[in-house]
Amino acid sequence: MSSFRFSLQAQLALFNGAFLAIVLGLAVLSAQSLRVVAGKTDALASKWIEATQLLGALSEGMSKFRISETYRILAETEEERIAAEQRATENRVEIEKLQKDYFALFRAEPRPDLARFRDALAAYLAAHDDWMARTPDILAIRAARGANALHDLYRAADEAADAAIEELRWSARAEADTAARVTDGALKSMLIASTIASALAIWLLFRVKERVTRPLAAITEALAQLAAGNRHVEVPEVERDDEIGAMAKAFDVFRANAQALERAHEATRAAQEHAQILARQDSLTGLPNRRMLVADLHAAIERVEDGAAACALLIVDLDRFKPINDLEGHRLGDAVLCEVARRLRQASRKNDIVARLGGDEFAILMEMSPGTHADQATRVAGRALAAIGETIEIGERRIDISASVGVSLCPEDGLDVSTLLRAADIAMYHAKRDGRGLFRFFEQGMDEELRRRAALESALKKAIAAGDIHPYYQPLVDLRDNRVYGFEVLSRWTHETLGPMAPDVFIPLAEQIGVIGGLTWSVVRRACREALQWDAQVRLSVNISPVQLEDPLLASRLLATLEEEAFPPSRLDVEITESALVGDVDTARATLAALQAEGVTISLDDFGSGYSSLYHLRAFHFDKVKIDRSFVLAMQHDEESGKIVDAILSLLKHLGVTAVAEGVETAQALRRLAEHGCEMGQGFYFGKAMPAADAARLLRSRRADRRVA
Ligand code: C2E
Ligand code: CA
Ligand code: CA
Repeated sequence: MSSFRFSLQAQLALFNGAFLAIVLGLAVLSAQSLRVVAGKTDALASKWIEATQLLGALSEGMSKFRISETYRILAETEEERIAAEQRATENRVEIEKLQKDYFALFRAEPRPDLARFRDALAAYLAAHDDWMARTPDILAIRAARGANALHDLYRAADEAADAAIEELRWSARAEADTAARVTDGALKSMLIASTIASALAIWLLFRVKERVTRPLAAITEALAQLAAGNRHVEVPEVERDDEIGAMAKAFDVFRANAQALERAHEATRAAQEHAQILARQDSLTGLPNRRMLVADLHAAIERVEDGAAACALLIVDLDRFKPINDLEGHRLGDAVLCEVARRLRQASRKNDIVARLGGDEFAILMEMSPGTHADQATRVAGRALAAIGETIEIGERRIDISASVGVSLCPEDGLDVSTLLRAADIAMYHAKRDGRGLFRFFEQGMDEELRRRAALESALKKAIAAGDIHPYYQPLVDLRDNRVYGFEVLSRWTHETLGPMAPDVFIPLAEQIGVIGGLTWSVVRRACREALQWDAQVRLSVNISPVQLEDPLLASRLLATLEEEAFPPSRLDVEITESALVGDVDTARATLAALQAEGVTISLDDFGSGYSSLYHLRAFHFDKVKIDRSFVLAMQHDEESGKIVDAILSLLKHLGVTAVAEGVETAQALRRLAEHGCEMGQGFYFGKAMPAADAARLLRSRRADRRVA
């Protein structure tokens, strides 16, 4: 495209110069031609016309002179002759003057016609003078009349004058012809020059159109498209080296900037959209998030206020999800949450909103016609619990999990978002407290209870940290020789304002809030230290919660504590309940085996009250089995219970496991137990749980008794 490396300005200047030169040349040429023509015309006007006039006057003077001469010849008298001569002399003076003037006109140019005329005139005048001399008077004239050759000479001069006039006419015509030719030539060259100039102008116009107008239009079109949003448009003429090229390049940069801006804008828009989705959606499960749920709950409440609907809010909180996440890794935890989300969707009705509130907490918002919402909420809560309760399989892993569900109803429990959320939350905490895997509807009063519980929780935590939970010791007696062979360690806590707290209250609480470990280690450590002050053969029994038995590191922790306190493992007995054996059986088995390998004995606590599984008796090698105190207590007035105790004792005897009876309150019970082969006993009959000093005193008095005996 670019055929010129000159700038447009330079090109235009060049074209302008050429054009101006042509026009100027044309003007100069025309002026010169005009001057030539004007000169010629001037010459014609002044010289040739004057010459013709002079020649005419000369010819007339000559005629007059000739006439005067004729009068002289014809004169009758002397007076007439003299008068004629006088006239002739006057005529001659005039002729000579005219002749001089005439020749002066042509002084510069030698002309043969003039020479001829002058010679003829001179010959005639000379002949005239000669004749005059020869005819001085009238008589001489009469004598010479007829013999006069003057007439011929006059005729020759006159004819020469005529010839000169003719010649002049020719000359004038020649001059006029020259002027016409010059004019013609000038016209022709002007025509050629203007043709060239016009062609140049047209070419220039074409060039301007080709090089400026059209490219500008193309660039404008490209810009218009760019403005209309066509981002793939290309700015033309960018490769040119001139001003258009520079402009196109500038626009191309602008286009690139616009594109970059557009891209940046798009990226921002995408980010905004993503942020908006994130703002409304939980990124892990794809469920609506808390913010969305709150908005939907708002809308639902408005419809409830209009009387058109009722709604129920379910808060679903997974039980013991934290250990899965902590011990198995976040990847597995995430997979479990996604599966739970899927199951909740399935368990809920089509139009219910299932949301993730965060962590392991979900919510289901149900809307329905008034009056039916409690029933429907019950159904969905039941389905949700059942769905979550089914074993979750992720790869090789099989995970059993449960959830606690709290339900609040609208309008019954409140007509605003925060009240309904809080009510469902409180109900959910109650479900957890009541044993997990359950759902609870919100009830008035739950709130107060929850506050009390929260206060108790924080007091318990403080008490554990401050070492305010003490070990008490309840004697374990060998029924065969009536010796105190050891003590069961039982925790005692006296609350600042509430007084002594029952372990049945604070132990489950410690389990629920995950502080049972801290409590156990602190109590066991203190018990070991205190027991080391007693006889070397006195044993300690400690209670280990089912929750603790899920910890694969339990055995090493316990053994490390014993080592730190220099308490021989062979003096320790660990009591576990059957409920500890239904979770992760493999871990429990490994833990118990590891403890037994170090000499720790294992007792199965509260046998008869729970599963009372023969399978457990066979699968685990317990050193002792403690028969639950409820049977032993009931035995005294209920023969059925007595028979059950008898049967258990006989079973244990056959399995070769030591039997321990709990709740021995009377001598009568003791007797019956001993008769049926029960080896060990524990109960108020022997002593309640007591502080270490009392336990030491008891041991001392027992020893003294035996010595006396
Ligand atoms: P347990 O392991 O069955 O402990 C025996 C419970 O029976 C004790 O109640 C004891 O005071 C009571 N008891 C003993 N003899 C008799 C009797 O002749 N008649 C009656 N009516 N009761 C008798 P306590 O101390 O209130 O403990 C309740 C439960 O709390 C314990 O039951 C045990 O499961 C748990 N517990 C206590 N301390 C600890 C602890 O340090 N760790 C753990 N994990 N659990 C503990
Ligand atoms: Ca126990
Ligand atoms: Ca027990």
